[in-house]
Amino acid sequence: MRIIIGKATQYPSHAPISEREIEERLATSGARYTSGRRLVVAALSVVDGPRSAAELHQEMGGEVPVSSVYRSLAVLEQAGVVEPHHGARGLTRYEMAEWLAGHHHHLVCESCGAVEDIELPKDLEVELERLVGKVSRLSSFSASGHALEVDGRCASCR
Ligand SMILES: [Zn+2]
Ligand SMILES: [Zn+2]
Repeated sequence: MRIIIGKATQYPSHAPISEREIEERLATSGARYTSGRRLVVAALSVVDGPRSAAELHQEMGGEVPVSSVYRSLAVLEQAGVVEPHHGARGLTRYEMAEWLAGHHHHLVCESCGAVEDIELPKDLEVELERLVGKVSRLSSFSASGHALEVDGRCASCR
């Protein structure tokens, strides 16, 4: 288990994905919300965890070239619409930013490398915040948020 302190800020869960807000975000960084980028956002919005460009390419039925998926992800990351998740084997996967997708944590499979999203019930989030507070005080650190990663084996690798 890893607790990452100060990485993520708290956002409400189940925030609806707003196409208009994404468009505005992209415009702020000087980019357009092209059809290719819309496809990437649509694909990322329905999966249950971070995905690499190659995985997204597959999930989109292979119709969008993987190089185009890479470029779309880079632009979306630049604009803060998607966030990278760095896997243990150096594989970068992406997911919708927390301000769009809601606050959640990750279950990481040590065997196949799959990363799954998990939302915690309110009482566990409160407990986690309390723990983060204690950890911060140990190191005179001022925490602004947290992200929890649980390592183990996914259902298909067990
Ligand atoms: Zn697995
Ligand atoms: Zn996630």
